[in-house]
Amino acid sequence: SSIFAAVEMAPRDPILGLNEAFNADARTTKVNLGVGVYFDDNGKIPLLAAVKAAEETRVKAGLPRGYQPIEGNPAYNSAVQQLLLGKDSALIANGQVITAQALGGTGALKIGADYLKRLNPDAKVYISDPSWENHRALFESAGFVVENYPYYDAATRGVNFDGMKACLKGLNAGSIIVLHACCHNPTGADLNDAQWGEVVAICQERGLVPFLDMAYQGFADGIDADAVAVRAFSASGLQFFASSSFSKNFSLYGERVGALSIVTAGKDESARVLSQVKRVIRTNYSNPPTHGGALVAGVLASAELRAQWEAELAGMRDRIRAMRTGLVDAIKATGCAQDFSFVAQQRGMFSYTGLSAAQVEVMREEFGIYAVSTGRICLAALNTKNLDYVAKAIAAVIK
Ligand code: PLP
Repeated sequence: SSIFAAVEMAPRDPILGLNEAFNADARTTKVNLGVGVYFDDNGKIPLLAAVKAAEETRVKAGLPRGYQPIEGNPAYNSAVQQLLLGKDSALIANGQVITAQALGGTGALKIGADYLKRLNPDAKVYISDPSWENHRALFESAGFVVENYPYYDAATRGVNFDGMKACLKGLNAGSIIVLHACCHNPTGADLNDAQWGEVVAICQERGLVPFLDMAYQGFADGIDADAVAVRAFSASGLQFFASSSFSKNFSLYGERVGALSIVTAGKDESARVLSQVKRVIRTNYSNPPTHGGALVAGVLASAELRAQWEAELAGMRDRIRAMRTGLVDAIKATGCAQDFSFVAQQRGMFSYTGLSAAQVEVMREEFGIYAVSTGRICLAALNTKNLDYVAKAIAAVIK
C-alpha cells in the first residue's frame, strides 16, 4: 500500500477557507472582510508608486542573480533597524542589534522561534488571548509549549490590562512573551504608552524574554509613533527579539519581505548570536530571496522615494481611519440602537465587532458579506462603494 495511505486531512486554514467560499459566491454585491490585506477604494491591492520606481531602477540595472549572504541584504537590514529603533539609536551605534532578512513576518517569527528553542529549550511561550492565529502554531512547531496571557476584554472592547499584568507577574524567568508592537491582530485594541512602560518594567523584574511582532508599522499613527513599544524596550537595557513585516506597509505581500532583529548586551554577544541565527537560516532555506528586500532597501535609501512611501503609507492609514468613522456613522444612520463608536478607537486593519459566530453566518448567507467567525473584520476591505451595504447588514443581523 502507499506510504501515504494513513495520512489524514489537515484542518483547513480558517481564513483561507473563507476566501475559497468567497470566490465561489456568485453574488455581485459580495464583500470579503475576512482576509488581512489592505485594499484601496477600488477594492484593489495597491502597487505603491515608490515601490514601482525602485523596481524600475532595479530592472534597468540588470543585475546578476547571485546568492545573498545568509542573513540577507546588509543595506536592507540596516534600514530595518532604523525603522524599528530610530535612526539615532544608541543600540545600533553600539553594535547591540543584529538583523536577518526573513521571508515575511512569518519567516522572522519562525527563525526567532527556532533560535529561541536552541537558546532556552525549556522556556514556555505566552501569546495574547486572542492572538494572530499563526502565533500559537508557529511556536508549537518550534517545539514550545504555548499558553495565553489575558488580553482582550469583551466588556470594554479594550485591553484587560490588570489581567495581563497579573499573569505576566506570575511567569517564570526566561518565559517568552509575544507582544503585538502595534495594531493588535485580531482585536484592534492596543496598549497605551504608560501601559507599555509597565510591561517593560514587569519583563525586567521577572526576567521575561519579549518578542515584539511588528506587522503594521505605520498603520496606526505613523512610523515612529507606532514604534513606541519597541523604543520603550530599547531604552530599558533588556535583550529582546523583534519581527518586522513589510507585507502591509509596502504592499509587498507575495514578495515575502520581513526581518528578525535581536537586541543583545553588546557587540561581542551580537557576533555570537548572529552566528547561531545564521545556522538556523542555513539549515532552513540557506539565504533569503533578493527582490523584495532590494525594493524596500531601494525605497528607504532614497530621500525622494522614502518621502513618497511615507505619503502613500499615510494615505493607507487615513483611508482606514475614514472607513472606521464611516462605518460607525453609517451604522448609526440606520437607526441601529447599538453604539459602534469603539470601532473608531481601535487601531490598525482589524476590529473585533462583537458580532457572534451566528451573526457572522447570517451576514454571509443573506448578504454575501464574509467575516471571521470570531467577529473580526478587516476595515481595509471597506470602501466608499460597499460601506453602506455593510453597515446595513450589520444593523440587520444584530436586531
Ligand atoms: N504577525 C501578525 C500579527 C500578522 O497579522 C501577520 C500577518 O497577517 C504576520 C505576523 C505575518 O506577516 P507576513 O505576511 O509578512 O508573514
